[in-house]
Amino acid sequence: MDRQMGFPTAWLLAAVLLPCGVGGAVAADVKGKPNIVFIMADDHTSQAWGCYGSRLAAFAKTPNIDRLAREGARLTNCFCTNSICVPSRASILTGQYSHVNGVKTLREALDPGADNVAKRLQRAGYQTALVGKWHLKKSPAGFDYWNIIKGQGRYHNPVMYEMDLDGGAVQQGAYSTDVFTDKALDWLARRDREKPFCLMLHFKATHEPWQYHPRHAKLYENVVLPEPKTLLGPTGPTGGVVPGWPLELLTQRMLKGGHGGGRLRVTSDDPQVVRRATYQKFVKDFLRCVAAIDENIGRVLEHLDKHQLAEDTVVIYTSDQGYFLGEHNYFDKRFMLEESLRMPLVVRYPGEIEPQTVVEDIILNVDFAPTFLDYAGTGSSPTMQGRSFRANLAGNSPADWRGAMYYRYYAGSPQRPAHFGIRTHRYKLIYYDGLKDQPEGQRWELYDLTQDPQETRNAYGDSKHREITAELKQRLRDLQAELGDRAGAEAQREGSS
Ligand code: CA
Repeated sequence: MDRQMGFPTAWLLAAVLLPCGVGGAVAADVKGKPNIVFIMADDHTSQAWGCYGSRLAAFAKTPNIDRLAREGARLTNCFCTNSICVPSRASILTGQYSHVNGVKTLREALDPGADNVAKRLQRAGYQTALVGKWHLKKSPAGFDYWNIIKGQGRYHNPVMYEMDLDGGAVQQGAYSTDVFTDKALDWLARRDREKPFCLMLHFKATHEPWQYHPRHAKLYENVVLPEPKTLLGPTGPTGGVVPGWPLELLTQRMLKGGHGGGRLRVTSDDPQVVRRATYQKFVKDFLRCVAAIDENIGRVLEHLDKHQLAEDTVVIYTSDQGYFLGEHNYFDKRFMLEESLRMPLVVRYPGEIEPQTVVEDIILNVDFAPTFLDYAGTGSSPTMQGRSFRANLAGNSPADWRGAMYYRYYAGSPQRPAHFGIRTHRYKLIYYDGLKDQPEGQRWELYDLTQDPQETRNAYGDSKHREITAELKQRLRDLQAELGDRAGAEAQREGSS
């Protein structure tokens, strides 16, 4: 693409000139219109999946998720473009970056009148349903059936709204992960069998406060979970320019109660002992919530098997973003650092995706919607900025696939300032535009991910990185121009002066 073209010319032209299927995608009529089951959790970071091989892999109870990876594709470089619940969900549905769809922080609603993937699937003859967490404020648009919680909702006895956000509230007397799956399977059982379907099942778990089901209370009872190497060091990357959210803040919250399994109990004043105790409770509660998700994904897979639907259904499982599980002594997300940026993702489609496929291409949340449309055989939407990765999943990655991604986080605070940046396969350059009062050199972070995969040392300003830093700054400017983020480009100009 001509990087000199501005927004919206560049991506509008790309959508017209590069219909899905370019670069070796499988023709949509080979398999007809497959069903799509899109399961998403909240904050279920890759460290808490068995199939991602983290320090916690042996402890995460995810046999059904691992089955999807074994029978399909696991993506190792899927990233969100703004690591926070509401914006990531809006980007997934619209195929647009936050600066285009307008959902930049937790505050904005997704405009029901705007184009989205569900509407386009409906027009392509799909039945569409959404069950569980929505979090986009206004009524879902494009779904024949929806039954959702408002905002964060509750883990236990959630209040759900069926087709009406003002009325229609019913309190469900059970655990949210189980209830949402019950509703999703009920809908599958009564759907019109003459049409393909797209079912979106979105769990509330594993969002804080990690209130797990009592059936998982004994999990990890006599276990000491392995700690990340960076847990006991200083908070954040050494030489990093922001404070971030330390576990000590979570300690304070957990001492008040409201989290899974009740209050944190600490009997020592030693800060390291308290930090380690907080970590153990936090991650155990988190993994107990994961166990329920996995069991319910198992129920969905069982349903597909039992009704001979597995062969003709694309099954996707992902999380809206990643999450820190004590790495850098952080919890929560928002940052462009790896644990927060990465979206774990598995996709199974037996006729087209080879078992145990691993895709290392840089895939983004804005690519989900164009991919679903590609499977539906409709061609992409001119409003969508992402690109279908159907071909990548099938082992035919287009030669001109992106080598770098653009990230931007808007909801700044002193501990977690607004920032944007670029990540390639090897490097990451971050600019904190929320630190405008700091000297220029203290607003940037640079990581060489091959030398420092855990991002423990900010390499910005090192003389040996001068050339690559200049190159990355230029590529960042190019991406901002290509994607039409004029405000981001202006912020970078100010920061470089
Ligand atoms: Ca989230």
